[in-house]
Amino acid sequence: MKAAVLRQAGAPFAIEEMPMPQIGPEEVLVKTRSCGICRTDLHIQDGLAYIPEFPHIPGHEPAGVVAAAGDRVKGIEVGQRVVPHLFVTCGHCSYCRSGRDAQCTDVQGILGVTLHGGFAEYFKAPARNLLLLPHAVSFEEGGLASCAVITAVHAYRRARLGVNDAAVVLGAGGIGQILVQILRAAGVKAAAVSRSQQSLEAAKNAGAEWTARLGEPNLGAMVRAFSGGDGVHCVFECVGTAATMKTAGELVRRGGQIVVIGEEPEFPEIDTIQIAQRELEILGSRNGSRQDAADSIAMMARGLIKPPVVRRYPLEEINEAMRYLRSGEAHGRLVVILD
Ligand SMILES: [Zn+2]
Ligand SMILES: [Zn+2]
Repeated sequence: MKAAVLRQAGAPFAIEEMPMPQIGPEEVLVKTRSCGICRTDLHIQDGLAYIPEFPHIPGHEPAGVVAAAGDRVKGIEVGQRVVPHLFVTCGHCSYCRSGRDAQCTDVQGILGVTLHGGFAEYFKAPARNLLLLPHAVSFEEGGLASCAVITAVHAYRRARLGVNDAAVVLGAGGIGQILVQILRAAGVKAAAVSRSQQSLEAAKNAGAEWTARLGEPNLGAMVRAFSGGDGVHCVFECVGTAATMKTAGELVRRGGQIVVIGEEPEFPEIDTIQIAQRELEILGSRNGSRQDAADSIAMMARGLIKPPVVRRYPLEEINEAMRYLRSGEAHGRLVVILD
């Protein structure tokens, strides 16, 4: 099968023939129809955060059609439209038992990250990792369920927001825009803050009630005015740099929450005096549970979440897509389309 392959960290993708994935009795072979591209793919390519075994086929936002199922697979049939949950978990540890799949202490792999993924004509996954994709959701949007959408749904659940509370989404790329849609649907007053004017326009279209440029000198005062008081109840930190963590601390109210979604190898510029004295809560959020995945798909089918797909590429042009993502000019999600 044709695949986009990384042979070592720091190298571009090579379009190569790779062996077809061999499925075990409880696994399913999926013919890929689309696969989203994510910043994590840049991190994998650069050798940051995740070092898979090479040669590696990344791609962790795939959607496709079941091509074959192992002998012991029940409830999934050839021809069905599916998307995977990424974490191949042990199923037995305390995190698995409590529905925190992404925290499994004995994780067997992450599809497209440490296991081969969807930048290929076929990928395989354990049957229990697959979710059915209703016809109301396209392959390209459905594939985003496994990273962009689930991450936003889970981050919302990590926060403790009620109706008419105020929140800032810091960084209005793909995940940020989906978060704005969820906040809007939940009755939360949502603002978006971003370096990019185009991302702010997109966030407004997604339902942000107020937007501002990151780096605006009066940002803190403006956000306090927006929140009608002392700052917002929650900042969703989708950038993850030392500087944006400092900004998050300036925008959140006393007793408020900062949900950290963006991951960079940096140390937060936020002092312990304000964390202690203002009783701030800083929470990490990583991907999500199978239930978060099911709810992501259901919310897309209901039309409450519409992931922003801005460009589509054939597999052969994946290096071009990666360059565009790296440029910071992409104001939404890029997807690889396979026919
Ligand atoms: Zn991702
Ligand atoms: Zn586990």
